[in-house]
Amino acid sequence: RNDSLDVTTFISARAHHGKFAFIDAGTGRRLTFSELWRAVDSVATCLSDMGIRKGHVVLLLSPNSIFFPIVCLSVMSLGAIITTTNPLNMAAEIGKQIADSKPVLAFTIPQLLPKLAGSTIPIVLLDDSVNNNVGEAKIVTTLNQMMKTEPSGSRVRDRVNQDDTATLLYSSGTTGASKGVVSSHRNLIAMVQTVLGRFSLEEGEQRFICTVPMFHIYGLVAFATGLLASGSTVIVLSKFEMHDMLSTIEKYRATYLPLVPPILVAMVNAADQIRKKYDLSSLHSALSGGAPLSKEVIEGFLEKYPNVKILQGYGLTESTGIGASTDSLEESRRYGTAGMLSPSMEAKIVDPDSGKALMVNQTGELWLRGPSIMKGYFSNPEATISTLDSEGWLKTGDLCYIDDDGFIFVVDRLKELIKYKGYQVPPAELEALLLSHPEILDAAVIPFPDKEVGQFPMAYVVRKPGSNLSETAVMDFVARQVAPYKRIRKVAFVASIPKNPSGKILRKDLIKLATSKL
Ligand code: ATP
Repeated sequence: RNDSLDVTTFISARAHHGKFAFIDAGTGRRLTFSELWRAVDSVATCLSDMGIRKGHVVLLLSPNSIFFPIVCLSVMSLGAIITTTNPLNMAAEIGKQIADSKPVLAFTIPQLLPKLAGSTIPIVLLDDSVNNNVGEAKIVTTLNQMMKTEPSGSRVRDRVNQDDTATLLYSSGTTGASKGVVSSHRNLIAMVQTVLGRFSLEEGEQRFICTVPMFHIYGLVAFATGLLASGSTVIVLSKFEMHDMLSTIEKYRATYLPLVPPILVAMVNAADQIRKKYDLSSLHSALSGGAPLSKEVIEGFLEKYPNVKILQGYGLTESTGIGASTDSLEESRRYGTAGMLSPSMEAKIVDPDSGKALMVNQTGELWLRGPSIMKGYFSNPEATISTLDSEGWLKTGDLCYIDDDGFIFVVDRLKELIKYKGYQVPPAELEALLLSHPEILDAAVIPFPDKEVGQFPMAYVVRKPGSNLSETAVMDFVARQVAPYKRIRKVAFVASIPKNPSGKILRKDLIKLATSKL
């Protein structure tokens, strides 16, 4: 066990020199692994000269770019802590994260400067083209300038130990207030090892498309750390746009496509046009994670794209990424499974009321333990104690069961269960059912408050173009297939279902919409 090892040293030791690490799909700019590591050394030297030390927090507010990993790696290589945020967040939300994490420096792009207007943090621009939005912002330099600095190697570094904090990512806040998740170098190194061990990375030269957000644990683990160790090339898109993504796959002959479920759904729905217009023959795998993927989508995808293997990854910000995954089509064909437990992880299913461990095929809360489980929540001991027990088990908040062969199935999130009379109704089950209707394009189920029964399931439904499906037809379709307490008792038709960047339904927004009319 080597305690004085930071995650950047761990990754960079696997030198891939002249190969391309990153390609910017927009500008075509390429970075080889040698250029990447030189840039990381230069930026780390500069940061150190600016007084950034072990334990300092540095904020990164940026869409995906080939510079994103450079900033993360240079900050972490000094033992400083990187905190990222969704560039779509409002200034007030970013302000809250700043107040909580207290960064000493921020990296951003000129277009996002207004979102930092209320803060006095010194700023480094990721882009040299300063525009008129600069206002009062305290800009100290640009990343480009920093990358030109002569690197001074290890001389400037504090000794970094594996238990030192590397990242402070904020959970999506889907089910409650967003919390700062503290992950160590040990957590990240364990996750890099998991990524290397899964997903058939050894099979030839992989070219990954990166549209999933790098600010989220999914993108950060895959693209800013894990895949660098594998020597894969990552083609970066600044945001998701279907045409850009597909033409980039074609142009760069990409082999691997990590996604979130809503993008897979869109690819299935538009499959006929997509296959006519784009050559996707280089693609052999698509990886889905961040939210549940229904049986219908997997089936539809396999039918429309028979040469693309579809894999699943399940994880949380709190598990520093993947806790379970499928690594073959045969495994993914067990529709609905989130996959097999990662080799370094332990799992148990616990009755959320009694705290007792349950048996195979019994549904309860999934608890995970292993080297990638977070250190805790940032300055929030109450939340840490209620989520991490004294033996290191993480209570995932996900209602799951493990089948006879060891596959994990996520039934729903405990906090999202609908409480109808004394029963608990999993909205995800009803959503999967609705998606199996030939005239339904997308659906979300929420709890609707009711004086008599507590809550009942209400569905928001997006009909396929040309469909005249009625509310009663939707309710009848579900009623024929579920126990009476699970029936949908109210339906509204909408143009789209609101989702967050990791593909989760924003139920909070739909509940607000439904109840605002009460
Ligand atoms: P908050 O805790 O603030 O509400 P969040 O839990 O949405 O935020 P994330 O860490 O982004 O923040 O999400 C983790 C959750 O995502 C898991 O607990 C699980 O419910 C869901 N999830 C992730 N991957 C999968 C998957 N493959 N299948 C089903 N659910 C998944």
